Amino acid sequence: MNHLVDVHDGVTLIAIQKTTSAETFDAHLYLKAGSGYESKELAGISHFLEHCVFLGTQTFPKRLEVELNLLSFGGNYNAYTSVDHTEYALSGGLKNLKAGVASLYDLSLGATLKDEVEIAKEKRVVISELEQDLMGNGQWTDQVQVAYMEIFADTVLEQSVLGTKKSLKEIGVQELKTYHEALYRKDRACLCVVSQLPPERTLEMLKEVPIPGESKCTDIISPRVVPNLKEHSLAKVKCLETNAYTWDLDFFFPFPSPKDAKECVALRLLSLVFCHSELSFLFGEARRKGLVYTAYGMHLCYLNEYVYRVATNLAPAKADKFWKLFQKQIKKLNDEGIDPKFFAFCKEHFNYSRQVILEHPGHYMHRLVDVKFLKGAFMLPEEEVAVLETVSVEDVLAVMRKIFSGNRRTVTIKGPEANKRLENSLNRKGDFMEPFF
Ligand SMILES: [Zn+2]
Repeated sequence: MNHLVDVHDGVTLIAIQKTTSAETFDAHLYLKAGSGYESKELAGISHFLEHCVFLGTQTFPKRLEVELNLLSFGGNYNAYTSVDHTEYALSGGLKNLKAGVASLYDLSLGATLKDEVEIAKEKRVVISELEQDLMGNGQWTDQVQVAYMEIFADTVLEQSVLGTKKSLKEIGVQELKTYHEALYRKDRACLCVVSQLPPERTLEMLKEVPIPGESKCTDIISPRVVPNLKEHSLAKVKCLETNAYTWDLDFFFPFPSPKDAKECVALRLLSLVFCHSELSFLFGEARRKGLVYTAYGMHLCYLNEYVYRVATNLAPAKADKFWKLFQKQIKKLNDEGIDPKFFAFCKEHFNYSRQVILEHPGHYMHRLVDVKFLKGAFMLPEEEVAVLETVSVEDVLAVMRKIFSGNRRTVTIKGPEANKRLENSLNRKGDFMEPFF
């Protein structure tokens, strides 16, 4: 086993042994807090809180002390807020592992949220982050956000993690404290540590680190439930005119979490087609022809929906060429079934990923966090492997057909002449398999 999972004083601990010999550690603390837990009135509070914990803790009352301490372990630190979780990450020299983890706990669970002056300053910072994502007219420049607002209208997913100017203005110290108390708790925390130590040893060490905060909590806060997807009778399209030379084209296909284990695994396999850069042969032909592109698909799993995203970012002259190739590949998969060689590759990769991810601990941790936090959407890896054996090519194709129908897509375009391109495309009939341009 290259990893072990345990619970200590309410916190879920994951220890992963990496294969490289560098004497370093990576520690990631995940908390079940994010925009999915926010009311409309307090939109953005999770992200605001993520900023404010750095302003003072039980051990280090001042912002500068907090930051200097985090840098004293020989590595770096970072944090981000998502829909279903917030992450605090810290790296450093292996000899500092225990002190580093203690600091991560202190930072998140032990944040004091006392310094009103600093908190007011930080509010201006989060508002400016929001402003960077908005054009002068208040429209989002972030295509994912634009698509989410279309796809998930009237659900919690349409709400930006950054909140709104109006909601942020309303959030004060008291709101932050209440939210922190309710969601930053041991039983909502998951710590993942990657180092070259055997996982047993890492767990032993982690259990010696004291964790601030209450250990017993009885009330359970659930994320706001995302209603089932509405039927989309028409493809939804949004465009953002910019002067940039390149343009972005994104297709979003929403898909609810499958209840059936087989479908779940089939969906996972399908996601590999789009998600893994190693599976680039889908785009390999385009690459061989020398097209410059960043094309990828990703599947996002927030609460109980998936979104498949297919995106290209190309100079306009090359975009059509790429799109034709991509479309050809997709059509091949759909009409002729998945090439057995391809399926074998997926299977191999699917199993192999558990070794690969040890070199990319971030991937692995997110996967484990998915399993821990998003129960139902994913299964444990061992079960996945067992079910995988029973999943046929037809199962994968069936899932693909369910997702990629023309009337379920949302398209966003960003770039020069976006409106014109959009108009042209709307005059064409057909589904996803038809060329867009
Ligand atoms: Zn931020």
